[in-house]
Amino acid sequence: MSDIIKLLPDSVANQIAAGEVVQRPASVVKELLENAVDAGATEIQLILKDAGSTLIQVIDNGGGMTESDARMSFERHATSKITKADDLYSIRTLGFRGEALASIAAVAQVEMRTRAKDFELGTELIVEASRVKSQSPCSAPVGTSVAVKNLFFNVPARRKFLKTYHTELRHAMDEFIRVALVNNNITFSFISDGKTLYHLHKSNLKQRIVGVLGKEYNERLLPIDAKTEYVSISGFVGKPEFSKKSKGEQFFFVNNRFIRSPFLHHSVEKAYKELLPENSYPAYCIFFEIAPEDIDINIHPTKTEIKFTNEQMVYAFLSATVKRSLGQFSITPSLDFDDNPGISIIPGRHQTPTAPPTIRVNPDYNPFDVRTTGGLKREPAKEELDDPDYMDKLFGKPEEASALTKLETEAYAPIGQVIAPNWEEDSHDDAPQSGFLQIGVQYIVTNVKSGMMLIHQQRAFERIFFERYLKKNETKDCSCQRLMFPKTIELNPAEIVKMNEILPEMKLSGFDVADFGQHTFIIHGIPASLPPDSDPEKIVRDLIETEDIGIKNAEHNGCQRVALFLARLVAAKKRTKMTEEAINNLVNELFATSMPTTAPDGSAIIKILPIEELDKLL
Ligand code: ADP
Ligand code: MG
Repeated sequence: MSDIIKLLPDSVANQIAAGEVVQRPASVVKELLENAVDAGATEIQLILKDAGSTLIQVIDNGGGMTESDARMSFERHATSKITKADDLYSIRTLGFRGEALASIAAVAQVEMRTRAKDFELGTELIVEASRVKSQSPCSAPVGTSVAVKNLFFNVPARRKFLKTYHTELRHAMDEFIRVALVNNNITFSFISDGKTLYHLHKSNLKQRIVGVLGKEYNERLLPIDAKTEYVSISGFVGKPEFSKKSKGEQFFFVNNRFIRSPFLHHSVEKAYKELLPENSYPAYCIFFEIAPEDIDINIHPTKTEIKFTNEQMVYAFLSATVKRSLGQFSITPSLDFDDNPGISIIPGRHQTPTAPPTIRVNPDYNPFDVRTTGGLKREPAKEELDDPDYMDKLFGKPEEASALTKLETEAYAPIGQVIAPNWEEDSHDDAPQSGFLQIGVQYIVTNVKSGMMLIHQQRAFERIFFERYLKKNETKDCSCQRLMFPKTIELNPAEIVKMNEILPEMKLSGFDVADFGQHTFIIHGIPASLPPDSDPEKIVRDLIETEDIGIKNAEHNGCQRVALFLARLVAAKKRTKMTEEAINNLVNELFATSMPTTAPDGSAIIKILPIEELDKLL
């Protein structure tokens, strides 16, 4: 048998390495920006076309490269940043593996123009799928421009995996922000499809954060600063009352490198403790300086995770530092979260105070029994739907929330055939055996053959309204309630991208929002189903922030996201005392949905406590 082991050709090896380094356009953005920073640039420009899928270009005024360095820079393991293994323990630069350019050039068409200081002429180099197509002298300013075109042009499988325009643009923007935040001494600009998204002048750190996150942060930030022999911590943390429902404004940097760390995040959260409403996140931008030998940045291929030699110490010190700053600067923190536009109006599942329970029983009533329920399991008649009180009749009128009537009436458009639960009396263990009781304002119980059935009231409403909104979306049946006075909202560039991502679905759901340019959007109308006293700006802000609304469904889409958001707004107001009839109707409606047992986020709506379990309780 002849020998069968061969060395992989470089082009193949590079493509394999590219799989690790270049996942999407944003990875290229990160590598090119870091190279520009490492090159000592004072001005860096990022240009994207089609969210990076056709062009990612970074232009810097750094040190540039000589003709042979330019050629070398595309070789794998070619780096000017380390020369021996020991250097690995004292890295101060962002790159050091010498893999980025080689990997990028393996999966794209790259054009580099660069001129080193003290050289008359620059060099232009064109590399495509790891092959050097041409290298020639050219005139160029000192510095480097790298243009990466048609990423994954030779790996169609990878190209197919690119997400939507807005998703890729947001990822690229995240990388840009991380580099821009930590390099406030560098002027950055970011141009996407001809539009300038950011132009950030060299400035102090606070101004840079404000430039990135938005002017309003000028008033929202508290400085932190503390030092031990092991580590020093500096930066800014957001005042607790401006915390947001979604993550995205939390940044840790260790020796100027952005890192992710749930562990350190936990430490910051601990410092805020009861100052934060449930499920909200404070903004922060925290810098650690630590001797390079006390961290290991090499444990993750894309280098956003690190290990400290003394994790516990960093954890405790960070928490104490943040806490001190919160105590020192926000002497009377406002805890009136309800009035705060930064906080979503959707309360956490466990927050709403409980009203004292009153129990009413109708032992003869069984909505699952066709004989006793009569017409309830049928589709609502047309005249009932036109009756504005229909929802009240069905779900009961919430005592103090009459504003909701309109919403419910609106949300309660016909959703097609209402299917009766498929339970035949006495033939199924889960069939309810008697009427329903409301426990507090959050649970409904009933007796089933095997024990006790517990229904989570708010989640039941969430499921019902979710499906209604989806249906209305599908049938393009959402009416818009035009505002007497249109509201303008100002968004930062990252928020604008988020807004554009969801805008088509918002419009389908009854929002009328228009891009006014200059970071401004105008809200002309909101879904008619929302209560008239809703704050349109707050709703729109909350909606664009709620990126990960938690829908348990692999291919969930924007429509589902908006539907669930609106459903939660409505359901949150439904923790009220209900009449017996309303409870029966709720249960009926629930079982007419496609998944009565599970809320859209996957949490359980129904649980059966078997008699044996109940026995154990006493
Ligand atoms: P690394 O950054 O890990 O060294 P890269 O593949 O990103 O590896 O870059 C290889 C080398 O090319 C760098 O070490 C640097 O010497 C040079 N280089 C890359 N980009 C630039 C740039 N914008 N300006 C100057 N030199 C650069
Ligand atoms: Mg690099």
